[in-house]
Amino acid sequence: STQVQLASRPTGWPTPENFRTAQVDLPDLADGEVRVQNEFVSVDPYMRGRMNDAKSYVPPYALGETMTGGAVGRVVASGTADLPEGTLVVHNLGWRDVAQGPAAEFRAVPEVPGAPNSVHLGILGMTGLTAYAGLVDVAHLQEGDTVFVSGAAGAVGTAVGQIARLLGAGRVVGSAGSAEKVELLTSKYGYDAAVNYKDAPIREQLPTVVPGGVDVFFDNVGGDHLAAAIDTFNPHGRAALCGAISAYNSTERAAGPENLFQLVAKKLTLRGFIVGDHAHLAGEFRERVTGWFAEGEIVFDETVVDGIENSVEAFLSMMRGANTGKMVVRV
Ligand code: NDP
Repeated sequence: STQVQLASRPTGWPTPENFRTAQVDLPDLADGEVRVQNEFVSVDPYMRGRMNDAKSYVPPYALGETMTGGAVGRVVASGTADLPEGTLVVHNLGWRDVAQGPAAEFRAVPEVPGAPNSVHLGILGMTGLTAYAGLVDVAHLQEGDTVFVSGAAGAVGTAVGQIARLLGAGRVVGSAGSAEKVELLTSKYGYDAAVNYKDAPIREQLPTVVPGGVDVFFDNVGGDHLAAAIDTFNPHGRAALCGAISAYNSTERAAGPENLFQLVAKKLTLRGFIVGDHAHLAGEFRERVTGWFAEGEIVFDETVVDGIENSVEAFLSMMRGANTGKMVVRV
């Protein structure tokens, strides 16, 4: 099996030298195990955190360890009746062309008519559930709310805008890092307005697109975006703090928002969350999103990089903003 492993820990931006591609011999299949030919593997921002030797909500990758993470593939050899050959499965064994292990590490997923199997890594998978859980469980979205989404053109962000609208949000606005992405947000992803945070400070741009203030902020970026949202919040505003990608490759401690007294004055709720703690929503999420998708109410983009050996390039270019929607590697 071809596998991509962590070779050394980066300081600041990772480079290809932090990774190594290895050929690993697979043992014979044992009873109760399956062998899976991967079709797509996921590259995700949280993997950057796992490259550091630092305590967080997921343990760091060990040096020499294969980069684990979401993947979808098909069972090609099976030692269990639960997952017969041909079953489509998702798992967390990550950046490898062939995955093998106990059946319990794999979960069968349906083929979705009209969609590539990579949807199980994106809109119908982890990033979609993150969007749904953040809006429903964390931000307690109410009908008519004005919603601001940072990182709006990515995997989570494109799902947040559409789901917010389907759940009854009033105005939905987003920020992203290019003119093309900003155009897509309003033409395709149901955003009422969008801004390019590279054009001018987000703090200056945000008030112009939310004249009535922000009720819910879904934050993928942190830093200046969080400060801007705090300035623009209405009383009793709620933030689902999902990520802070603006700081992931920084060697300096990110400056915190200096306007925190507004949390008091406006009675704001800012709450961080990790999607894994919201697994109780997975069933209802899959049912609703599958339905919306079948009815044409939800669309998605993927940026696809070919070849497991190009996983590193896919990962690095995702963090530079090369993707619209979910970045995946086609094996
Ligand atoms: P995306 O598909 O959004 O890809 C990352 C995007 O981040 C890039 O495309 C880029 O878009 C943007 N970006 C990179 N650097 C910056 C910067 N300095 N300022 C603003 N934007 C930047 O990734 P995901 O949808 O998978 O993840 C989005 C966020 O959600 C991340 O912060 C991630 O860590 C978090 N997350 C959290 C989860 C949880 O359980 N809490 C679960 C899943 C994701 P652009 O061109 O617009 O700059």
